[in-house]
Amino acid sequence: MDIEQVRTALLERKEELTERHGRIARKTRHRDEPLPQDFAEQAVELENQEVLEALDAEVADELRQIEHALARVESGDYPYCNACGEEIPAARLKALPTTSLCVDCATEAERR
Ligand SMILES: [Zn+2]
Repeated sequence: MDIEQVRTALLERKEELTERHGRIARKTRHRDEPLPQDFAEQAVELENQEVLEALDAEVADELRQIEHALARVESGDYPYCNACGEEIPAARLKALPTTSLCVDCATEAERR
């Protein structure tokens, strides 16, 4: 596995997410503006806010995972399972670049 390639991919994803995070923040910024008079419009507006907030939470969550993965790249722990220390197969890391667990430990963690 080419760790430089992994780092580049993670950094690119991070940039993309940071950009999206900023875009969402700009859209949700106008919270103090009065709601439209029309009730149907109000409902749409509030629903949009909820969708945006959920989206933003998702983006923030993935950003945290990327940061975590990048830290693991820096420390050299990236290809190793956080729980058992076994090497995580490259195919799994390719499919799930931010995972820190091997399949066995991830299954175990999900069960708990
Ligand atoms: Zn493991």
